[in-house]
Amino acid sequence: MLGNLAKWLRMMGYDVKYADDDEEDAEILQHAASSKRILLTRDKEIIGRRSDAQMLLVKSSDVDEQIKQVVFEFKLSPGKNAILSLCSECGEKLQPVDKGEVFGKVPDGVFARQDEFWQCPDCGKLYWKGSHYNKIVEKIESLLKP
Ligand SMILES: [Zn+2]
Repeated sequence: MLGNLAKWLRMMGYDVKYADDDEEDAEILQHAASSKRILLTRDKEIIGRRSDAQMLLVKSSDVDEQIKQVVFEFKLSPGKNAILSLCSECGEKLQPVDKGEVFGKVPDGVFARQDEFWQCPDCGKLYWKGSHYNKIVEKIESLLKP
């Protein structure tokens, strides 16, 4: 339900795990408590349960509002350097890869324009600071303006 928010938080450099749809509420809470993660949810029922897990009820269904709420509640100050530090799909720490290794794996135009590439060691997804990256930086900056 909060998959988009999870992606954005990862793009901002925060280590976020997304609960599987088939996980029971009790399991999710137990995981959150044992891994000292904070559970972000829109589910009022799960918030009402007794648990050792720290929880935050996400108020809005709009992802921009969600990002603002999370940044405000946890007093986050995501730096520009944190962007592109984690895989937006699985949250693994990205590793720099040599340009020679990505030949044929990224669009030709991207290969021609970019010199720096990063890769997720888990899912293999490749990242570079293209127009997508600039849009992310802009969006985050505009959302975080007081
Ligand atoms: Zn990945």
